[in-house]
Amino acid sequence: MPPRQDYLKKMELKKQRKLDAGVVSERFPKISNIIISMTYFHDAENAVLMERTVNVFPTSTADFNMECMIRGCDKGGFNLNPVISGLIKQNKKAAKGSMKCKGKLDHHAPNHANISYEINIKYNKNSSMKHN
Ligand SMILES: [Zn+2]
Repeated sequence: MPPRQDYLKKMELKKQRKLDAGVVSERFPKISNIIISMTYFHDAENAVLMERTVNVFPTSTADFNMECMIRGCDKGGFNLNPVISGLIKQNKKAAKGSMKCKGKLDHHAPNHANISYEINIKYNKNSSMKHN
């Protein structure tokens, strides 16, 4: 299977598993859009593996646990949930940071992967709740 299709299939499965997380409009009603820009690095040399931008809409799943892109990584990933919910609580619009993957991987150093991220949040202009 081509990598892209494999990836999409993975994302589909992930989506199903994460229905429990609910959607953004339910969990964070004041959000109109979140943009998460990430640069993935691997190994200790901080070589760039890939860059990725995730666009979060009110209809998106309210789960911001990003997968580790290193093949064979077990239970790894980058959990941005606490970062994003913290920002929203404080009505902050942007944050930058970095995170290490804590997943286990054979034949690799514990710090086999890390990301640097930039989060930009757009809030609804009308902060009062709409009643449909
Ligand atoms: Zn990993």
